[in-house]
This record gives sequence, C-alpha cells and structure tokens, in this order.
Amino acid sequence: MSTENLIRALRAVYEFDLQQAPKQHPLRTPQCPPLTRFPAALREGWTPEEQQHVAGCAYCRKIIAWNQEEERRDSENTSSASRTC
Ligand SMILES: [Zn+2]
Repeated sequence: MSTENLIRALRAVYEFDLQQAPKQHPLRTPQCPPLTRFPAALREGWTPEEQQHVAGCAYCRKIIAWNQEEERRDSENTSSASRTC
C-alpha cells in the first residue's frame, strides 16, 4: 500500500470518527500521535516514547489494527489480481 493510499484511508477513518463524535474520538488522547504519523511509524518504527504510548492506548491500537487489516486486504487484492492475469 502506498503512503498516499494509507493517508487517504486514515483520513476516511478519521472523518468517520468525526461523524460519530463531532469533537473528537472519545478514545483519542492529547498524547496520541497525529494520524499522518502512523504510516511512517508503522514502516520505520515508533520512537520509544510513542511505542510506550501506543502500546497502552486503545485509540492508537485501533488505528494500527485498522492499518494492518488494510495492508492484509491490499495484499490479498494484489495476489488475486495476479492470479487472474
Ligand atoms: Zn493514542
């Protein structure tokens, strides 16, 4: 998945969350990294401070799980596409 697609997907989740909670996601904390940080962090790793936060943060874990699900779906799409071609 390209970074651009990932950011677009994250924005979609974020906008969905905004619709659910007009101000901000109820699980989101002031310590949560910005959504734009997730693609780079998932690729290159978190800083020790971030790692400590995301390990215990329901919101960040949800975003990460969602990312991994998208990655999995992306690779399935890629492999099924290559089978039909
Ligand atoms: Zn967080």
